[in-house]
Amino acid sequence: MAEVKIDNLNKSFGSVEVLKDIDLTIADGSFVVLVGPSGCGKSTLLRTIAGLETVSGGEIRIGDKKVNDLAPAAREIAMVFQSYALYPHMDVYGNMAFGLKFAGTPKAEIDRRVGEAARILKLEALMKRRPRELSGGQRQRVAIGRAIVREPKVFLFDEPLSNLDAALRVNTRIEIAKLHKMLKATIVYVTHDQVEAMTLADKIVVMNKGRIEQAGKPLDLYYKPANMFVAGFIGSPAMNFIEGEVGDVTEKGYSVRLADATSVSFTGNGVGKGRKVTLGVRPEHLAVGGTGDLKLEGRIDIVERLGETGYAHVSTGSGKPIIAEVRGGATGEPGQAVTLTATLGHTHLFDEAGQRIG
Ligand code: ADP
Ligand code: MG
Repeated sequence: MAEVKIDNLNKSFGSVEVLKDIDLTIADGSFVVLVGPSGCGKSTLLRTIAGLETVSGGEIRIGDKKVNDLAPAAREIAMVFQSYALYPHMDVYGNMAFGLKFAGTPKAEIDRRVGEAARILKLEALMKRRPRELSGGQRQRVAIGRAIVREPKVFLFDEPLSNLDAALRVNTRIEIAKLHKMLKATIVYVTHDQVEAMTLADKIVVMNKGRIEQAGKPLDLYYKPANMFVAGFIGSPAMNFIEGEVGDVTEKGYSVRLADATSVSFTGNGVGKGRKVTLGVRPEHLAVGGTGDLKLEGRIDIVERLGETGYAHVSTGSGKPIIAEVRGGATGEPGQAVTLTATLGHTHLFDEAGQRIG
């Protein structure tokens, strides 16, 4: 296994800049997830690591080797795509063995590696089947098996679960997490699904328009998003945002007047009076009733009940309805007046540029 180090990477297609000044270290043996909206450059970044795209500037290292000018086959990586890209006329064994045969690996070694991968992925009973005789989940396991037998330094996954139905996606996600623990492999994994990112990653890299917005441990991104983009992207349902303006500033701190005419006091300094800010609070951190530093008065528009939990949509006069998680049977009714509260520790404050300030 190996570390991957990316320095000041840029990539353009013609005059369109798709990756801008990407700096990223993927530690040896770590599971790094690239996440972001469609079109933000995730696949392109993965493909530059794989050598399927040339770079316009910067450097990519795998282990101690600069690989910019190496052909994909020489980079010792294995890639798994969303479309499984299996050979339809070959059986499971043939699909997994193909790359090794092509590279001239001795038969006994091929059998050993394919047997081992089949055991890990529970494909042993399916070795003689063709892809069309397999379910989507089984096909995806064959595609992963084909990557494992190559014993690559780095695994690259591009949205491998996107073609699976919801239940199978959850199962396969857990299988991939176990696989990572077992192989201690370096994995770079692309998804647009923030739940996949949160559950699989040692490190999440949130991308937006060809740039890295923030990279860090999943819970660090959840509790301390560096900016509004990351705050809104990580977490489901998304963080509520309420516009406001800095009011009184004292030696100890400052108050923020929110759009719904409530006011919250923050400690700290460096924020000038009159400055436009945005306060963020997650639905799961808002309580109905109770006490808290943040208090929002409003009326329930609608409650979405999922079972034990639900989501109350509450109009507070601050613009968009605020979403609050509610639990149990007494989750409130449309029209009901409620007070939503949160502690200061569960609020986030962003400046005009969307950068975190508190
Ligand atoms: P993601 O995987 O995050 O959805 P991509 O990396 O596939 O995004 O694409 C990023 C941007 O680069 C998109 O705007 C896409 O249209 C553009 N792009 C990708 N591949 C090419 C290509 N071969 N030629 C021109 N533009 C491309
Ligand atoms: Mg993509």
